[in-house]
Amino acid sequence: MDEELKNAIIDEVENIEYGLAQLKEMLEKEKIPPIMPEKCPCCGGIAGAQLSGSVWIECRKCGLQTKGYNLVEKAIEAWNRRV
Ligand SMILES: [Zn+2]
Repeated sequence: MDEELKNAIIDEVENIEYGLAQLKEMLEKEKIPPIMPEKCPCCGGIAGAQLSGSVWIECRKCGLQTKGYNLVEKAIEAWNRRV
């Protein structure tokens, strides 16, 4: 297997594990839902968290997104502030 591809996959898996660990920690602290992303200010579409190295909020409909953050709460906060 191509070494670069292998490393990219390992990175992605680590990101997912990191995201899941964060989610588990929030659940354990009963912080779910901490804050939910509001509807898209642009089109009213449903927004969700995306994870790839960092976490950001992206509209499922029009693709509007925040910049990347290290914490999902930070990304949601930024989204809700209408970045
Ligand atoms: Zn949108």
